[in-house]
Amino acid sequence: MAKRTSLAEKYDEINDRIAAACERAGRDRKSVALVAVTKYAAPEQVRELVRLGHQDFAENYVQPLVQRASQLNEFHQRRVQAGDALVAGRLRWHMIGHLQRNKVKQTLPHVAMVQSVDSLRLAEEIDTVAEKLGIEKVPVLLQVNASEEKQKYGVAVGAAVHLGEQIDTMPHVQLMGLMTLAAYGADEATLRQVFTRTREVFDEMKWHKIGGEKLRHLSMGMSDDFEIAIEEGATLVRIGSALFVGELNDADDAPA
Ligand SMILES: *Cc1c(COP(=O)(O)O)cnc(C)c1O
Repeated sequence: MAKRTSLAEKYDEINDRIAAACERAGRDRKSVALVAVTKYAAPEQVRELVRLGHQDFAENYVQPLVQRASQLNEFHQRRVQAGDALVAGRLRWHMIGHLQRNKVKQTLPHVAMVQSVDSLRLAEEIDTVAEKLGIEKVPVLLQVNASEEKQKYGVAVGAAVHLGEQIDTMPHVQLMGLMTLAAYGADEATLRQVFTRTREVFDEMKWHKIGGEKLRHLSMGMSDDFEIAIEEGATLVRIGSALFVGELNDADDAPA
C-alpha cells in the first residue's frame, strides 16, 4: 500500500465532511459533487488527485485552465492506458471565473462546463462560437450575484430568471443551473441567506420550466462554507485552499 500523503488525507476528510453535511440535510451523498479548484495547487498535487480517481477540476482564469487541462488530460490518458484501476472516465474542467468574450473561443474546447455566465452577451458569444467549433451544446450555469456586492460579477437576483429564459432559447447552450459566491468571511446567517436566495431563484426557474429536466445544478460553497451550502441545496461545491494549501510538493517529496 502506498504511503498516504497529506493531500490524500485531506481529500478523504473533505469527502467525509460532504457526506456528513448530506446526512444532516437528509440528502443522498451522490447528489453533491466535489469540484477541485486548482488555482493554488502544484502540478503534482493535481496529478495526485487524478490518480485518486478524481474527475472534476476548475480554474478561474483562462490561461491556467487551458494549460492545466491539456497537461492533465494527457497524464490522465497515460494512466488509463497503463490500466490504473482508480483512474477512469474523463476529466471534466469547469470554468468558474469571469470569462471575457474574446476568450470564449480559446476556452470552449477544454471545458465540460462554464459556471460563470454573467451576461446575455457572453451567453450569445458561447452559442455562436460553439456552433462554429461544432460543439452541440455547452453546459453552462448562470452566475448570480446573490450577495449583492458591487465588485462582484454575476447577474442581479431580480434579473436572473429573465436572463435564464433567454439563454434557454439558444441552440448551442444548455442551461444547467446557477452558480454563486458568498461574501468572503461573512457570518453564517449571511451565508445561508445568500445560498437560500440563490436556491429560490433556481426554484423559480424550475417553476417556469426554464432549462427543463437539465436544470439541476446549484454550484455554491467553497472551502470555508461548503457544509452550509450543502445544507441549503448545493449540488457542486468548489473547493481549493482546503485541499491544496499548506503542503506543496508533499506527494513527490515523500519517501518511496
Ligand atoms: C478560488 C475560487 C474557489 C475556491 O475557493 P477556496 O476558498 O480556496 O476553496 C471557488 N470558486 C471560485 C469562483 C473561485 O475563484
